[in-house]
Amino acid sequence: MKTATAAVLRAYDEPLRLESVRIPEVRADEVLVRIHGVGICHTDLTAAAGGVPFPLPGVLGHEGSGVIAAVGEGVTGLAPGDPVVLGFDSCRHCRNCSRGRPAYCEHSAAFNYGGTRADGSTTLTDADGAALHGNWFGQSSMCSYAIASARNTIRLPSDVPVALAGPLGCGLQTGAGTVFNVLRPEPGSTIAVFGLGAVGMAAIMAARIAGCETVVAVDPLQSRRALALELGATTALSPADVDDVGRAVRRESSGGVDFAVESVGTEAVVRQALSSLRTPGNCATLGLRPGRNPVTVDQGHLLHGRTLTGVIEGDADPLKFLPTLVDLWRQGRFPLERLVQTFPIARIDDAVAAARSGEVVKAVLTFPTDDTGG
Ligand SMILES: [Zn+2]
Ligand SMILES: [Zn+2]
Repeated sequence: MKTATAAVLRAYDEPLRLESVRIPEVRADEVLVRIHGVGICHTDLTAAAGGVPFPLPGVLGHEGSGVIAAVGEGVTGLAPGDPVVLGFDSCRHCRNCSRGRPAYCEHSAAFNYGGTRADGSTTLTDADGAALHGNWFGQSSMCSYAIASARNTIRLPSDVPVALAGPLGCGLQTGAGTVFNVLRPEPGSTIAVFGLGAVGMAAIMAARIAGCETVVAVDPLQSRRALALELGATTALSPADVDDVGRAVRRESSGGVDFAVESVGTEAVVRQALSSLRTPGNCATLGLRPGRNPVTVDQGHLLHGRTLTGVIEGDADPLKFLPTLVDLWRQGRFPLERLVQTFPIARIDDAVAAARSGEVVKAVLTFPTDDTGG
């Protein structure tokens, strides 16, 4: 049993409150990670507002990174002291997992949103000993210690800043994976990215690495457009400055882009992204919106060789894909630190506000690493 500090959500739409919690001993297939940093992803905010069916009270956080404190006796290839980043969880056995596509695991909901282990037990209790829901994306890492498993724990090289690595596990994997694994642009392709949060910025960096010649960045925030231009966008525009966003992107790309990445998820932006495509062309939609989210598309527009595809977690296997991203990061080609602003966990309210407003691209909460955790 370990004592830890967690950001606990006791009711939807209420602030996350720091509480002292208890973590049980790890089971045979589990890993205990002392969390150094955890990114705030929009899916955490959507869940905190009740937009994802995660049971309460519970602990969110699914972009955790840190150092392994303990491993269960059945875990191989990971050891205490290893720096690690955590990804989403999956069963690794179902039809989709066995085909290398764990982002579409048939048991994804239970493994990522269920709030408990498969047997119904929880990996956290509060100071009074009452169960708290954990296992959010197989980690619940808005806590100074998190229980994960070898299924979603990826060792980091010792020369990277561990506390900054967490966003690789969701937002950055989503944006970069969509480009590398789904759209797969050939060198010389044209691409537009709608929405310049961490997902969109990762798509821009990946597009540049893939050799895209024209990279159009679209976002209403000037600061984000400026950063996108530094990270690889070749042109940037604000939807507020033009009457027809699709037409403006087509103008910037000699008649339309081969690929579009849409990270917002609203009908308006999906339609802008589709309208920006040349023929043939492929648009990936990534933004998660709460509840049903119908979008009307013109079938005649799709007929001309255009595709609209949805993507979860970049269609990536984190055990394989995160080491690739880490390599690119070490080479200076995927400078994720440019996206990150850190906040000590005590300032969680400021971090959540900055993530909500878009004032920071990626807020990462950090935990004091001199705390022994009891
Ligand atoms: Zn599976
Ligand atoms: Zn996420």
